[in-house]
Amino acid sequence: MERVEVAVVGGGPAGATAAERAAAHGAETVLFEQGVPREDREELGPDSTDAAGMLDYWIDIMDFEFEEIPDEVVLRELEGTEFIGPNSAVELTTTGMDASYPRFGYTFHRARMDDWLYERATDAGADLRVGTGVSDLETDLRSESPKGPTHTLTLSNGDQLEAQYVVLADGPQRRITLGALDQFTPPGRSITDQLSPPEANHIAYQEYREFPPELFEEFEDTLKFWWGYMPGETAYPWVFPNDGTVARVGLTMPIGMRLEDVDNPDAYALLDPEDDQLPSGSEYITRLLELEYGDEYDIEEDIPIVEDRGKSTGTETYPISSTRPIDSPVGANIAVAGGAMGTTSAFHEGGYHVAVRTGKIAGRLAATDSLENYNDVWKRAIGDEVLRNVSFADIVKAYEPDDWDWAFDTVSDMQGGSSDNALLNRTYSAGIGATKILGAYKKRKFNYRNGKYVQFSEDDYMY
Ligand SMILES: Cc1cc2nc3c(=O)[nH]c(=O)nc-3n(C[C@H](O)[C@H](O)[C@H](O)COP(=O)(O)OP(=O)(O)OC[C@H]3O[C@@H](n4cnc5c(N)ncnc54)[C@H](O)[C@@H]3O)c2cc1C
Repeated sequence: MERVEVAVVGGGPAGATAAERAAAHGAETVLFEQGVPREDREELGPDSTDAAGMLDYWIDIMDFEFEEIPDEVVLRELEGTEFIGPNSAVELTTTGMDASYPRFGYTFHRARMDDWLYERATDAGADLRVGTGVSDLETDLRSESPKGPTHTLTLSNGDQLEAQYVVLADGPQRRITLGALDQFTPPGRSITDQLSPPEANHIAYQEYREFPPELFEEFEDTLKFWWGYMPGETAYPWVFPNDGTVARVGLTMPIGMRLEDVDNPDAYALLDPEDDQLPSGSEYITRLLELEYGDEYDIEEDIPIVEDRGKSTGTETYPISSTRPIDSPVGANIAVAGGAMGTTSAFHEGGYHVAVRTGKIAGRLAATDSLENYNDVWKRAIGDEVLRNVSFADIVKAYEPDDWDWAFDTVSDMQGGSSDNALLNRTYSAGIGATKILGAYKKRKFNYRNGKYVQFSEDDYMY
C-alpha cells in the first residue's frame, strides 16, 4: 500500500494551504480533491463557490501580504458596505479593524484564487490529485508507527493509502469528517449529530448578473446586504460587484425551513401573500431585483444572467457552515480545518480567510510532528475573529424586520451622520439603543471567552 506522511482530504482553501505548508516543511504530502466542473475553469478543480468578498483585516488573518496575491485574482477594490433594512439603511466605510490593506476590502475571482493556492502547493512539492475523492477513512489507534496512530484512506478509484497524519478539509458537507471523528466520540455525543449538514449549515445560491452601466456604477465599490427581507436566522440576500458590470447576486438561508415556520410572513418584503411555500433561491433573487430595480428595468432583459460563469450556466448552489467550531482529535493525528471544522461565520458567511489560516497551521504542524498543538495554535490565530462572529450571530439570531430597522437606525446614530468612524467608540451620543447593542455584544463575548465558543472540545474525544 502507498504510504505518505501527510494526507489532505479536500482541496478548497483549507486543504490547498495545508498541503502547501506541509510540503514546504519537508513532509511527503498528497491532497485529494474529488474535482468539480465549473464554467470558469477548463479542468476539474475544487468547488470554488463563493461570493468572494475579502475584508481588509482578513488578508492579515490569512497571513498573506496583499502584494503577493496575483493581480488577476482581485476583481474590484471596495470602499465600503451598505446594510439595507426594510425602512432603514446604514453605510460603513471602515471595518474598524487594524489592517495592512489600505482599503475596505476587495471582491475576487474565487476559482483563480484557489488555482493560485494550487500552484503554490505544487511548487512546494505537494502531490495534488484532482479528480480522486476519498470515500472512507479508518484510523489505527494502536499502530506500530513511532509517531502514533495512522490512517487508511480508501479512494474513489478503489485504491488505498496509508498516512501518518490527516488534515480533513472536506468543507461544510463533511462527507469524510463526520465518520472519521465519530471513531472517537462517546455514545450519544456524535459529531454527526452535532455537525449534521442540514442542522449545522445554511444553503447559499447565487447568480452572476450583468447590470446596465449606470446602475452598476451605484454600487461598483460597495457590498450590499438586505437584512430583514426574508425569514430565517441569518437569511439575507446580497449584491457583490465583480469585473466589468457583472455582480454576484446571491442569498443564504436555513436548510429545510417552511412557510409554516414563519411567524409573521407579512413583515418580509420578499414574501408574497399568495405564497403557499417559501420561494426558491432563484425566485428570491428575481423578487429582490424586481423590488429594487423593477420600476426602471426589465429584470430578465436588462439585468440578465451571465451564463459562462459559476458552476452551471451562471448560477451556483453550495452549503455554508453556519455553526460554531469544533476542536480536532489531535491525539489521533487528525486535524480538521476550514468549513469542515465550522470556522465560517454564521453571521456574515465569511470563511475563506479562516479556512486559509487553519489550513496553513494544520499543514505546518502535521509536517513538523507537532499536531498535538493544533487546537491551541488555531485559537491563538483566529480566536478573536471567531469570538466576534459567534457573538454577533447569537445577537441577531431572533431578529425580525423591525429589529433590523432599529439596529441600523441605532448604528446610523452612532456614526453621527458620518460613515467614516469606528462604531463602538461612538455609543455615548447614540443613547439607549447603542448601549443595548454594545451591552449584548459584550455579554456574548464574555460568555464565549477563553475558547468557550468551541462546541466539541478536545477533552470530549475518547481514544
Ligand atoms: C455562495 C457562498 C458565498 C460565500 N461568500 C463568502 C465571502 O464573500 N467571503 C468569504 O470569506 N467566504 C465566503 N463563503 C464561505 C467560503 O466559501 C467557505 O468558508 C470556504 O470555501 C471554506 O473553505 P474550505 O476549504 O474549508 O471548504 P471548501 O471550499 O468547501 O472546499 C472543500 C473541498 O473539498 C472537496 N471535497 C469534499 N469532499 C471530498 C472528498 N470526500 N474527497 C475529496 N474531496 C472532497 C470539495 O469538492 C471542495 O472542493 C461563501 C460561501 C458560499 C457557498
